Amino acid sequence: MFDFLIVGAGFAGSVLAERIASQLGKTCLIVEKRNHIGGNAYDHYDAAGVLLHTYGPHYFRTNSQRIIDYLGQFTEWREVQYKILSWTHGRYWQFPINLNTFEQLIGRPSTTEEMEAQLAEWRVRIDSPKNSEEVIVSQVGWKLYEMFFKNYTRKQWRRDAKELDPSVCGRIPIRTNRDDRYLSEKFQALPKHGYTPMFQKMLSNPKIEVRLNTDFREACAQVQFQHLIYTGPIDEYYDHCFGHLPYRSLRFEPETLKQEFFQPAMQVNYPNEQDFTRIVEIKHATGQKLPSTTIVREYPQDFGPGREPYYPIPAPDARALYSKYAERAALEKDVTFVGRLATYRYYNMDQIVGMALAEFERLRANQRGQTLIQGEPVLSTKI
Ligand code: FAD
Ligand code: UDP
Repeated sequence: MFDFLIVGAGFAGSVLAERIASQLGKTCLIVEKRNHIGGNAYDHYDAAGVLLHTYGPHYFRTNSQRIIDYLGQFTEWREVQYKILSWTHGRYWQFPINLNTFEQLIGRPSTTEEMEAQLAEWRVRIDSPKNSEEVIVSQVGWKLYEMFFKNYTRKQWRRDAKELDPSVCGRIPIRTNRDDRYLSEKFQALPKHGYTPMFQKMLSNPKIEVRLNTDFREACAQVQFQHLIYTGPIDEYYDHCFGHLPYRSLRFEPETLKQEFFQPAMQVNYPNEQDFTRIVEIKHATGQKLPSTTIVREYPQDFGPGREPYYPIPAPDARALYSKYAERAALEKDVTFVGRLATYRYYNMDQIVGMALAEFERLRANQRGQTLIQGEPVLSTKI
């Protein structure tokens, strides 16, 4: 008999287990169908001793001091400025688009003023962009959109950018200065010794039991619990009663090389000719000193049996289907849906930690017989 059954040992499930065990003193059983904790943020050492992000690069970033402090209880940090390049038209380009990229394009030194004037000419006037194509062409025009975004997006999502929410391509910054960092958040760092040790520490409370290689359905038949926290795909929970939600999957192809580094940056994007979208050499970011290196090519693929649902699809049709599941989920009393798959949101790690901390506040209020007023900014509650 457990107080809580938690499905999934990723950020959502692990943060909630840690909070419930340490702050409420309640027992938690986490069931995880994979053979490890950490969800998609899991990392491991390969045969060459290279620390790899098993499910694609996970660049931690946040603007929230509360989230840094919370995770800081379980890890030290290694600050990293994530730098990437784009390879197209037979050469490397500075990416995301910034003044250096503009200089590469025109073949001579330039200034912010000149770049802004040129973009003003190229830009398509759209007051409130309604999709990912509009969000880019309204900032930089068709030429740069076609060079860097159009085909990458089609490969990644098997949809045109105009069929995706503005937030998908809109999350890539476009700058007219020389700031060439991929991300803009003020805190950008990796757990110093990797994500997996951070999760191990989070889950070390004796009130938490973790059962790996265990599916939710199997666990339900074996254990009793009072409250369920579910972080898997919501359509699977409801046996796809309204139909299958669309997801995008990936195939990772690692290659170890007997050389210190393979490419000039941690990540190189391949927007056009290649079938893969990016090559990641995470050693640039982890700072490991080793004579060999491992690179990972990332191939987008359709989701289906035996494949992981890595990305919910941020698009109006998918959201409409999700809202049917969300309406049903809202009626549940003893089940909490949290995380990227259970709420069908293209969220980063820090957003998932924020969501889990907010859910914890709701659960704690319920335990005390209180109700949080709807709209109250639980995300900024001090834990
Ligand atoms: P998950 O990590 O997916 O955890 C859910 C867990 O539930 C999984 O381990 C799964 O096996 C388990 N599960 C599902 N169904 C069942 C079941 N029936 N029974 C038992 N267990 C089950 N975020 C960033 O901030 N920066 C990045 O650079 C970044 N890069 C990313 C790159 C890729 C390729 C991907 C896919 C994601 C990336 N993310 C990144 C997002 C990040 O992975 C997520 O925000 C975060 O891991 C979500 O945590 P979660 O707990 O919601 O889900
Ligand atoms: N994108 C693109 N070209 C790039 C990089 C990104 O068109 O060189 C688009 C693409 O649609 C991608 C989205 O921007 O899915 C978000 O990119 P990001 O690198 O943040 O994706 P993630 O790391 O989440 O896969």
